Amino acid sequence: MSYEPIDDSGRIVQLRKAASCEWCGQQLAVGEQAVTRTYRIQGEFHSGRMHPECYSAMRDYFAGPDCDADGFFDGHAMARGKPYEAGLHPQGAS
Ligand SMILES: [Zn+2]
Repeated sequence: MSYEPIDDSGRIVQLRKAASCEWCGQQLAVGEQAVTRTYRIQGEFHSGRMHPECYSAMRDYFAGPDCDADGFFDGHAMARGKPYEAGLHPQGAS
């Protein structure tokens, strides 16, 4: 994949607009703290928001052996705050 980080430093902002987490797909409410990142994938700009714990889960995922070279699907029900898909590790999923 052609992932190119533009601003992927883990910067935390307070949301002024509701969004859904890129990792777990759950709602991020106005006023909530979220990691913001901007990146380019296959030539297209994207900007996303994530729960801070989901951002670190994503870091673990891409550093770990389960890493799928194609990345993860937006809203593909990754486990919140965990470096794997929801349902894959039922004991560990919250
Ligand atoms: Zn999340």
